[in-house]
Amino acid sequence: MRQVKSEVLFNRKVISGCFVMGLYCPEIARSAEPGQFVHLRVEDREEPLLRRPFSIYRVENEKIEILYKVVGRGTKILSRKRRGEKIDLLGPLGKGFKIDSTVKRLILVAGGVGVAPLYFLTSRWAIAKMREVIVFLGAESKERLLCEEEFKGLGTKVKVATENGSRGFKGLISDLFAKWLSSGQLLSESLICACGPLPMLRKIASLSKRSKAVCYVSLEQRMGCGIGACRGCIIRGKNGYLRVCKDGPVFNAQDIDWNWMP
Ligand SMILES: Cc1cc2nc3c(=O)[nH]c(=O)nc-3n(C[C@H](O)[C@H](O)[C@H](O)COP(=O)(O)OP(=O)(O)OC[C@H]3O[C@@H](n4cnc5c(N)ncnc54)[C@H](O)[C@@H]3O)c2cc1C
Repeated sequence: MRQVKSEVLFNRKVISGCFVMGLYCPEIARSAEPGQFVHLRVEDREEPLLRRPFSIYRVENEKIEILYKVVGRGTKILSRKRRGEKIDLLGPLGKGFKIDSTVKRLILVAGGVGVAPLYFLTSRWAIAKMREVIVFLGAESKERLLCEEEFKGLGTKVKVATENGSRGFKGLISDLFAKWLSSGQLLSESLICACGPLPMLRKIASLSKRSKAVCYVSLEQRMGCGIGACRGCIIRGKNGYLRVCKDGPVFNAQDIDWNWMP
């Protein structure tokens, strides 16, 4: 884990309220693994005091990128950063996706900005090893879909659901995933990985369990220190408490006590 003053290389809007920021940080770029995150101070001033966590979305040479949605004070400040400004970064943090060599096929389920760690996973792991990847992408509408072309560009099969039906299946991505599972297309040697809003993850975890498939989820719990000290991001696992920042953010879905989650 490194703490660096990283230079903003670009910060561009990709859809309304969502941005991709490129950061120059060779030390972090070199060691980042899919599913890990960076914890960044959006201001050098005292406020906002706490760092904000973001999944690593892309890594290219000495640069990392994050894909973020503006939801509050910190992300609003972030969205105003300009090329050349410096941001204090901690990273790479947390445990990412651990995928063993028996896995032949990845089934990815992403809701909204949950695409970020899954895109990094696809670009780094699956494509390099020539594995098959099927991506389920969900959003409110076609205008809010993220990374569809990018995933296609990596040679994956992409299935889309929008809540208003403006593109692909009409409904939630978890409903499309359930429909696909019930048609018996889940083959052995597949691994399911999901990232998105908690209700979506809960549903994907339960569907995967019913299909006896292994499922990893990447959680986006609010957190404090990001390094396992403050225990601000604790959740209940099947065998005791888990720190999302240090024991995760990627967990086997069956290790989580979903009844306890908010
Ligand atoms: C490991 C990890 C990876 C993440 N990766 C990404 C990513 O790739 N892209 C991205 O856009 N976001 C990601 N997040 C969420 C991101 O950290 C928060 O959206 C951000 O910290 C909000 O900061 P803020 O100051 O703008 O919002 P605040 O002003 O702190 O809060 C504004 C509103 O957003 C809600 N909120 C804040 N944080 C979260 C959260 N973690 N989950 C749900 N609701 C929240 C608050 O309850 C409040 O309603 C990730 C979180 C974690 C823990």
